[in-house]
Amino acid sequence: MPDGNTAAPASVPVLDVRDLKKHFPVRKGLLRKTTGHVYAVDGVSFSIERGQTLGLVGESGCGKSTVARAVIRLIEPTSGEVRILGRDILSLSKDEMRASRRQAQIIFQDPFSSLNPRMSAGEIVGEPLLVHNIGNSRERAERVAALFDRVGLRASQMNSLPHQFSGGQRQRIGIARALALDPQLIIGDEPVSALDVSIQAQVINLLMDLQEEKNLSYLFIAHDLAVVEHISHRVAVMYLGRIVEHAGKRALFSNPQHPYTEALLAAVPIPNPRIKRQKRLVQGDVPSPINPPPGCHFHTRCPYVTEQCRIEVPPLIEVAPDHWAACHLRQPAAVAVA
Ligand code: SF4
Repeated sequence: MPDGNTAAPASVPVLDVRDLKKHFPVRKGLLRKTTGHVYAVDGVSFSIERGQTLGLVGESGCGKSTVARAVIRLIEPTSGEVRILGRDILSLSKDEMRASRRQAQIIFQDPFSSLNPRMSAGEIVGEPLLVHNIGNSRERAERVAALFDRVGLRASQMNSLPHQFSGGQRQRIGIARALALDPQLIIGDEPVSALDVSIQAQVINLLMDLQEEKNLSYLFIAHDLAVVEHISHRVAVMYLGRIVEHAGKRALFSNPQHPYTEALLAAVPIPNPRIKRQKRLVQGDVPSPINPPPGCHFHTRCPYVTEQCRIEVPPLIEVAPDHWAACHLRQPAAVAVA
């Protein structure tokens, strides 16, 4: 079977996103006049290396799912740059984009609504092979059976319909389908949020085993920090369309630098009694992304707010080696002098 991967130097990030924006127009009236914009994603940058997982976290409505869809052009970004294995995918034609999708696949939150209820599980998993004209029918059937086996399903279940599977099994179908084209990048848009905790652990472990086996890169979107801590190498925290903190998992969880991250972590139980976190919870709801607060978007909920926060947007600066935060309270890390 042909491999869908394009060889790229190991130094090239699998996914590189620069200043990504997605602003949805708000239309009103009979003439559907644009009266404003929803600033769903407002200048997001990050990259993911081969074999690594970036966890993207934040409350619901912060724009993380829009990022997931925009980086593979399920929705068209307003502006920015997205490179998959070094290739600028925003400049690709529809046909070129279709071919490029072999390298990046997505797994959705709700495995039931993302699977066609009239197709058998085998047809669902094999559909990408058919669409990309890979192999003959016998080869495709063999590949689908191997994928079923790899994700912990039985080949005898290939003819069953989605409703005949449990939630966890349906997510395994989604994972098998995502793997069908041998991608290098998998985007998980809250892939375990709809599952029971015990099933979540099984699916996460499957994803981690697959990562090790195939050197896959993951962009893992979630609101559950415990899940993100388990699966991620790096973590980016989003608030109202912007990344407010970005660091290696250990640094971010043990020494958060942004008040929003601090508040998110304060809500997570810590199994280690030696680690103490300041319990400072944020008040209120996330403001509307249609008219986000000026300056620091978080200033309406931040316990440390100052006048400067209401006016000036804090830039994302490196506050410690490879630890980035966007907060006026933080100073840039001292530059080492040789
Ligand atoms: Fe809070 Fe100001 Fe920092 Fe924003 S910039 S997180 S409002 S202290």
